Amino acid sequence: MSVRLGITGAAGRMGKMLIEAIADSPSDVSLVAAIERSGSSLVGADTGELIGRSPSGTHVVDDLAAVIADLDVLIDFTQPEATVANALVCVEHGVAMVVGTTGLTAAQGDQLKSAADTIALCRASNFSTGVNLAFKLLEQAATVLGDEVDIEIVEAHHRHKVDAPSGTALSMGEVVATALDRNLEEVAVYGREGQTGARDRSTIGFATIRAGDVVGDHTVIFAAEGERLEISHKASSRMAFARGAVRAAQWLAGKAPGRYDMQDVLGFREG
Ligand code: NAD
Repeated sequence: MSVRLGITGAAGRMGKMLIEAIADSPSDVSLVAAIERSGSSLVGADTGELIGRSPSGTHVVDDLAAVIADLDVLIDFTQPEATVANALVCVEHGVAMVVGTTGLTAAQGDQLKSAADTIALCRASNFSTGVNLAFKLLEQAATVLGDEVDIEIVEAHHRHKVDAPSGTALSMGEVVATALDRNLEEVAVYGREGQTGARDRSTIGFATIRAGDVVGDHTVIFAAEGERLEISHKASSRMAFARGAVRAAQWLAGKAPGRYDMQDVLGFREG
């Protein structure tokens, strides 16, 4: 039976990508509700027309509670306060939730953890399948190469990004540091300048590039004497995140209450 999906933030950048990803998904998923904040000029718009296609017959609404009973899974890419409020509606109706919203405070994160006592909730700061697979490959590379290599993480993003290094680069650093039994806070080196001295092998270096319209490039370099391994991921469109989120939603349907992430969706935590 088709998995019935809803999207909150349907008219946002990710929302529109999600409408497209669901329409084009090879899996048996269907978009049954598209929700925007009340007051949005796009409430009432047809979701097909919203993405420049022929009308779908599904229109954007502004009341999640009115449509929640029709859903198996809600996909939420909005903003932190909205995500927490939407999680409460999901809890009330026992509907699973995929959360892509970033920038939650610790307290808001705790509210989502509480929600996951009642519903299945999958949360990830990066839903790209490639990035999540890269995390697994990085763990394996760090474990095999151990303390014999220098490790550097280089990331590039568009000129509008306001934080550095990216959350994904930091997550990559965490994965590598954990595999090597190091504490990232103690070993991270963020950029170098001037008389830096020779490199300490236990450090993990980060370098950041900000330029043009780069969606997101990450490379982790494992450099030894005589050889170098580089694991790279390059995102060229937000569709990478949307497709991962739809994959997560399909996987989550019917799962027991609890906290999940993309490592679970991709089967990296199975027995
Ligand atoms: P956006 O501003 O383009 O879209 C957000 C949409 O949410 C807007 O249309 C807004 O009107 C809507 N919204 C706000 N409150 C709402 C409510 N109560 N109910 C329904 N809709 C509501 O932003 P975006 O670029 O689409 O990003 C959204 C979030 O997703 C951000 O937190 C961003 O960092 C995150 N994001 C995560 C990933 C990932 O892989 N996890 C990838 C890209 C973006």
